[in-house]
Amino acid sequence: MVGEKSRSGRYEGLVRDCFRSGGYVFAGRPGEIAQKEGISRIARLGSNENPNPPARGAVRLGCAALNEANRYPDETMELLVQSLAQTYGPDSFVTGVGMDGVIETMIRTLVNPGDRVSVSTPTFSFYGLAAKAQSAEVVPVPRSEDYSVDPGLFIKAARNSKISFLCSPNNPTGTVTPVRDVIEILSEIDGILFLDNAYVEFCSVDYLPLMEEHENLVIGRTMSKAYALAGARVGYAFVPAWILPYYHRASTPFTLNSVSAQAAMGALADRESMEAYVRYVIMWRERFSRECGFPVSPSGANFIMADVAPWSGDAMVRELARRGIIVRSCAGFPGLPDHFIRVSIGAEWENELFLKEIRSIREEKQGAP
Ligand code: PMP
Repeated sequence: MVGEKSRSGRYEGLVRDCFRSGGYVFAGRPGEIAQKEGISRIARLGSNENPNPPARGAVRLGCAALNEANRYPDETMELLVQSLAQTYGPDSFVTGVGMDGVIETMIRTLVNPGDRVSVSTPTFSFYGLAAKAQSAEVVPVPRSEDYSVDPGLFIKAARNSKISFLCSPNNPTGTVTPVRDVIEILSEIDGILFLDNAYVEFCSVDYLPLMEEHENLVIGRTMSKAYALAGARVGYAFVPAWILPYYHRASTPFTLNSVSAQAAMGALADRESMEAYVRYVIMWRERFSRECGFPVSPSGANFIMADVAPWSGDAMVRELARRGIIVRSCAGFPGLPDHFIRVSIGAEWENELFLKEIRSIREEKQGAP
């Protein structure tokens, strides 16, 4: 219960400075937009989700696990780790509540207050938020004009950093970093490189062989995108074996719940559905790029980033919302100008609606945002 004195704000001074403002920015809420615009069916293209339901095996195993949810999960996540090893090879794995959970725990494992954390920017915001929550000094490392990573610049910053974050394919630009650039970076830095591969299934680059040679590489993955389990919150990472005991000390006692872990195993077993979705994404990604009428950056992910100038990203998001479509403005991504939007590949009807409406916005209001 909230007491009188809390309502007066008297205790808010107790909150740490880093949480007084800011925080993660979420996509628009479909229910709210539907109500505001009086539209019953909203196209959800704002969060890079898989529009299909999870694999049947994922639902079956997840439901079965609920029957035993009176027990705590296996803290080692042995069965899930075995499934991952069967799918990807015998690496060392850690798990977390989404890749977000893995990122947070990895930072807790390594970063003391005041340590440096470098982030290749513009990119996913949570690295910086999690690092600041650990009282790190966050160093943004700007990408080049075409959003590629400049290895020399990145190395310079990452040399003085405990851990550095590089996202490939990058959110929100879609940019894929060549393996040779990652190798150059790994060989030149002293700290850990966290390579965020949330969208790796949608591109043709495979960074996994690098795990063999580099003891300072962590590759973060998620079941939220290609495997359609965003709501189950399952993330994992390939890690060098030496880090395992430390990660487990830094994490909450149970990194994942048993229902999500079983669902993830069911999803991993259905490679065919995942691959069919990837083919579908690639086909639509090309159509979006060709047909949306605005310049689109090359993308290796399940979304595209479009330059909607002379509209601002925020204005375009509002205009599309009026027409029942949620996309993400990139205005909140530090390091990007304010005239970009990020659009996820959704279900067939959502994609068709987006193309129709964005073309009509462009034609109706040529040059007049
Ligand atoms: N990394 C990137 C680049 C992402 O875009 C996201 C989710 N939007 C995540 C990590 C977090 O994924 P998860 O759902 O597994 O927490």
